[in-house]
Amino acid sequence: MDSQLTLSELLVRLFPFLVCLAFGLVVGSCVNVIAYRVPLRKSIVHPGSFCPQCGFILPWFDNIPVVSWLVLGARCRSCKTLISPRYPLIESTLALLYMGLFAQMYLQNAQAQTVGQQLIIFTSGDYLQLFVGALFIGVMMILALIDIDFRLLPNAITLPSIPVFLLFGLLMCIPPFSEAGKDATLLMRLDPLIIRLIGMIALPLAFVVLDFISVLAFGKAGFGGGDVKLAALIGAALGWKLGVVAIILSILGGGILAILRLATRNIIWGRKTYMAFGPFLCGGAVLSLIFGMEIVNTFITNLGRSGTDAVASLIAGW
Ligand SMILES: [Zn+2]
Repeated sequence: MDSQLTLSELLVRLFPFLVCLAFGLVVGSCVNVIAYRVPLRKSIVHPGSFCPQCGFILPWFDNIPVVSWLVLGARCRSCKTLISPRYPLIESTLALLYMGLFAQMYLQNAQAQTVGQQLIIFTSGDYLQLFVGALFIGVMMILALIDIDFRLLPNAITLPSIPVFLLFGLLMCIPPFSEAGKDATLLMRLDPLIIRLIGMIALPLAFVVLDFISVLAFGKAGFGGGDVKLAALIGAALGWKLGVVAIILSILGGGILAILRLATRNIIWGRKTYMAFGPFLCGGAVLSLIFGMEIVNTFITNLGRSGTDAVASLIAGW
């Protein structure tokens, strides 16, 4: 066994991660621009990036993700106003998530390929899923940032995204992207689209029901209309299984933060009672995209062990 990797082998193995890193930084930079400009109804492409304080148009070398921020010492070259660490933070978070997304798929495939000679085989379907996953993470990041800043989830982003991700679901049903075998039935071939259609309808319905219960119990709705549309988008992009995992994770996350707020008597977060749920949904959806299948599979295995095989096979069947 080659226990010692040569430098070139190491570089070959690291290369895809470096691509994810670079790609994540660039997309993160775009996410910053879109999240800042869309709520203000400004054009995304024109003008180029500028300092909001003095209007100085950034030359390309002041616009390199993370690097420029570090080189400039977090200050505008022209007016020396501090530039928020939020920008490089978002860029590096996205780069990390992209590497995580790739690593997850890499590990899945590497496990599947231990018998074969080749180290790893990425199918066309895998590449499509990576691309769609990367796009989804970007959209979730934009929506979370806008919801944090403005407490709204713009229809201009959520609504058009739904058919786009459904279309990717359809694309996953047909060669060369389909993962169904040769003797698969039509229903099996259409599975990627069907789970997304169910997700698009079932997830927002769950929120409507939760809101109804909330109105009965507390006299007010817990979620906004934006959350319901975001749930439809998550269902259309991830399918209902990962969508359910996303909702559970987001409710856990939101619940934990709410308890923390109560425990610290709102010292840190002030006295405002409203808490935007959108960022939790977006975060839950991204975590579900990367780790959701593991969670679902563990759940199914444990269901099988505890004797409720019928339920387990029903979930696995979908
Ligand atoms: Zn400036």
